[in-house]
Amino acid sequence: RKLGVALVGLGYYSTDLLAPALQLTDHCELRGIVTGSPEKIPQWQSKYGIKDANVYNYENMESIANNDDIDVIYIVLPNSMHAEYVVKAANAGKHVWCEKPMATTAKECRQMIEACNKNNVKLSIGYRMQHEANTQTIMKWAKTKPFGEIENLKAEAGFYSDNITPWKLDKELGGGAMYDMGVYSLNGARYASGMEPIAVSATHTTNRPQMFNEVDETTIFDLEFPNGATAACRTSFGESMNILDIDCSKGGYYLKPFQSYSGVKGKASDGTVLEPFGKNQQAVQMDDDALAIINNKPVMVPGEEGLKDIIIVEKIFESAANGGKRLSLQ
Ligand code: NAD
Repeated sequence: RKLGVALVGLGYYSTDLLAPALQLTDHCELRGIVTGSPEKIPQWQSKYGIKDANVYNYENMESIANNDDIDVIYIVLPNSMHAEYVVKAANAGKHVWCEKPMATTAKECRQMIEACNKNNVKLSIGYRMQHEANTQTIMKWAKTKPFGEIENLKAEAGFYSDNITPWKLDKELGGGAMYDMGVYSLNGARYASGMEPIAVSATHTTNRPQMFNEVDETTIFDLEFPNGATAACRTSFGESMNILDIDCSKGGYYLKPFQSYSGVKGKASDGTVLEPFGKNQQAVQMDDDALAIINNKPVMVPGEEGLKDIIIVEKIFESAANGGKRLSLQ
């Protein structure tokens, strides 16, 4: 059986990536949409064969509870709206997929997890990299340590743009580089090390203060791990960067790019090449998450994983507001 998925928020990511990827899945079907833009409805209905009964807006979304066509609600809204709509989806009794970052505060993340637990539905966070084969190889290496102990890591994800989506410059909506690309650096440092950081220090910088008068343009953060390893992490809307580089006691390896819709590739110090993986990343992610629902197994990237990042993101902002002060995460 295929699971019926409803997308909430028909912006760039839903339109350009998720809806096309849903056509490539084995276990999912795009059956519903939730949108505040009525003008988008005819095109989505004709392109994807979506029934009238499966079209919702933000006001009547709760009534999706009575719609057996829909098994999963995927929240693809501005970051500060994730919590409210994940809770609504869970209360409608549907499994929930939520884009990254999970939310803007740890408090919201906990409310989302609680709502999903209470309604006995699964919650997956859209950290697509964790579903990607080369990423999974280095996640395994963090455990098997083929190049010795991890000593230092570099995790950098960002891009230059002078045409940023307006809400991504708006603090109220959860804008800024850290919530957008920074969670890739942070999540990457955590999955590549296989460890939870014990301390963080961070600073923000900007080259375009008029544009970045509310949110961070560039955030630099250093993580310390329990074995003494450190991670130097960066993210930016003002500089392109895309590398996860791991130094170990007997060599090392990197993924470059490590955060990309396709073509994630890398190399290890013994010459091992990590060739790009051919499959559509979002299709693999959604099929993995659908199979977890169908087989009632744990999801790969649960709400607890999103929460771990947001707890650290809160400390990153706190450190940056306090002159880069080193803050304990314990
Ligand atoms: P977008 O601005 O293109 O789309 C956002 C959608 O939300 C739009 O359809 C907009 O109409 C709707 N919306 C509802 N209320 C709104 C409001 N008050 N202000 C602005 N928009 C409102 O953004 P996007 O790039 O599609 O990002 C959506 C989510 O997806 C974000 O959480 C983002 O981090 C995530 N995302 C993830 C990836 C990934 O690779 N996993 C890639 C891009 C975006």
